[in-house]
Amino acid sequence: MNLRIGTGFDLHRLEEGRPCILGGVELPHPKGPVGHSDGDALLHAISDALLGAAGLDDIGTLFPDTDDEHAGADSAALLAEVVARVRAAGFRIVNVDAVVATEGPRIAPHRGAIRARIAGILELDTGAVNVKGKSLEGLGALAGGTAVAVQAVALLRGA
Ligand code: MG
Repeated sequence: MNLRIGTGFDLHRLEEGRPCILGGVELPHPKGPVGHSDGDALLHAISDALLGAAGLDDIGTLFPDTDDEHAGADSAALLAEVVARVRAAGFRIVNVDAVVATEGPRIAPHRGAIRARIAGILELDTGAVNVKGKSLEGLGALAGGTAVAVQAVALLRGA
């Protein structure tokens, strides 16, 4: 059985007045991620986990933030491109899991919507995509809703 695991991490600062896009879903929150793209840290971490498992370049290399073509990019479209590359490399996605560490937007009330949206992009059952929020206990530089940090893992099966 040719199984491959990959990990991805991403971090974006949250700023007043930006749409709060996470996992391809706009959450009701006054602050949103700052980034060259739409700043969707969850989709970026998942993209890197998938690419890492497949042994491909990371998203910073594939979609450089110096490239105007990706300014304001929809990260769901970037993830769809990643999925196409992973499949072209001969892999099928088994499952994806992620932890969203933030004291910004509440994740729990939107878990179902986020999982369904990501599952749609990955063309998986919702049961193969998991996401959970984690508070930071008011500690460290990320406390107080200043940022969203995401750790993701992905499992692939080779042909
Ligand atoms: Mg990012």
